[in-house]
Amino acid sequence: MGFFNSLISSVLPYAPKAMVRIVANKYIAGETLNDAMRMVATLNAEGAMATIDVLGEFVERSDVAKQETETSVKVLEEITRRKLDSNLSVKLTSLGLGIDTEFGYNNLRRVVARAAELGNFVRTDMENSPYTDRTIELQRRIRKEFPNNVGIVLQAYLRRTEDDIRLLAPEGTSFRLCKGIYVEPEAIAFKGREEVQQNYLKCLELIFDHGCYVGIATHDDVLIDGARKIIARRGLKPDQYEFQMLLGVREAKRRELIAQGHRLRVYVPFGKDWYGYSVRRLKENPAVAGHVFKAIFTGD
Ligand SMILES: Cc1cc2nc3c(=O)[nH]c(=O)nc-3n(C[C@H](O)[C@H](O)[C@H](O)COP(=O)(O)OP(=O)(O)OC[C@H]3O[C@@H](n4cnc5c(N)ncnc54)[C@H](O)[C@@H]3O)c2cc1C
Repeated sequence: MGFFNSLISSVLPYAPKAMVRIVANKYIAGETLNDAMRMVATLNAEGAMATIDVLGEFVERSDVAKQETETSVKVLEEITRRKLDSNLSVKLTSLGLGIDTEFGYNNLRRVVARAAELGNFVRTDMENSPYTDRTIELQRRIRKEFPNNVGIVLQAYLRRTEDDIRLLAPEGTSFRLCKGIYVEPEAIAFKGREEVQQNYLKCLELIFDHGCYVGIATHDDVLIDGARKIIARRGLKPDQYEFQMLLGVREAKRRELIAQGHRLRVYVPFGKDWYGYSVRRLKENPAVAGHVFKAIFTGD
């Protein structure tokens, strides 16, 4: 991490929430279900698919986890009602995984069962390393019952990811592959930018070797170009993979990929619990976070 990035990281927690909200606005669809639906309709009109995320994570109260579960179900129902092209992404700690594994599983099952009834799909986001094993375990368990309606996310910065692909791919798992956003110790994670890129492309090849579907989730030109080469060399058809990007990030690149005939899905977060997600996005982009930084010191 460069000097400016580490400065931003250390300053952001002290920035007033209202200020973070203003600069983070472009990363979230809004606070209501209606905001999310409107955003998805706009994206669909531009030729992009979507995946909606109900903001919230590391939930410690079971009534809150239940509420998140029901909101996720409502999202799936509203997608169907409005005939939108979107699936759902969920964080297992928002469904109560951190409270109790079985409680989290039952909530996940409620959401995935509804997705299956509606012919839709739920992707379980991958969180920080204390939850990796349990996320994989619950994914394998729920896939047995709903093989066509769930998929997992793996993080190329983790040293274990290649082994996880070797475990999950023969079962026909649907993957999203991303770099990974949490701060993890060097003992378990690659730290160098190039190391992570190399592992990403290696893992992508491995997923394709097994014939699995993958969401190529990145805004990094090295990885997008690398993936396009792999896709061309293997002669893959657009229904064998998709690119994925976050709302508010690299919109011109998004349009370029769609124009080239690739399927592209945008991750659309919404809800009142926007703070943790927004801070992670701002840390990734010092140019935007710099506005917060400037405002703190100049009072603008
Ligand atoms: C659809 C999707 C789902 C994801 N799900 C998960 C998940 O479940 N678990 C997890 O750990 N991580 C997840 N991530 C985050 C991911 O792990 C990375 O942290 C994030 O995508 C940045 O990595 P990058 O590959 O885009 O490369 P980077 O090198 O970080 O970015 C490449 C370029 O993209 C632009 N860019 C990147 N981020 C921003 C930003 N916030 N604002 C403006 N410009 C930016 C910049 O131009 C940058 O140079 C997800 C990412 C995507 C796209």
